[in-house]
Amino acid sequence: MAKMKHQELLKGLIRLHILHHASQEEFYGQWMIHELARHGYTLSPGTLYPMLHALERSGYLKSKRKRLGRTFRRLYRATALGREANRVAKIQVRELIGELHGSRRSAGA
Ligand SMILES: [Zn+2]
Repeated sequence: MAKMKHQELLKGLIRLHILHHASQEEFYGQWMIHELARHGYTLSPGTLYPMLHALERSGYLKSKRKRLGRTFRRLYRATALGREANRVAKIQVRELIGELHGSRRSAGA
């Protein structure tokens, strides 16, 4: 993501995207990299994993190691706090989208 333009601003949206999927199902890092790429976000493992770890430290995600043949894979999913944050974020994103689409009166109108 070092090459991605406006990365600091977009990081918030990427976090919300991660939280959205984590609230629905377990995922592993490589899957999330592909999923985010599908949405136009180019992230390297070196950018994604620190984000996942930070979300885990903040209590929004939990992870566990799962054996896969001879290797291990770390699976992530949302905690109760993460699901709550996802609900709040959803409301706020809907609010923002309404504004971006001009479906609300502007302030002072
Ligand atoms: Zn998605």
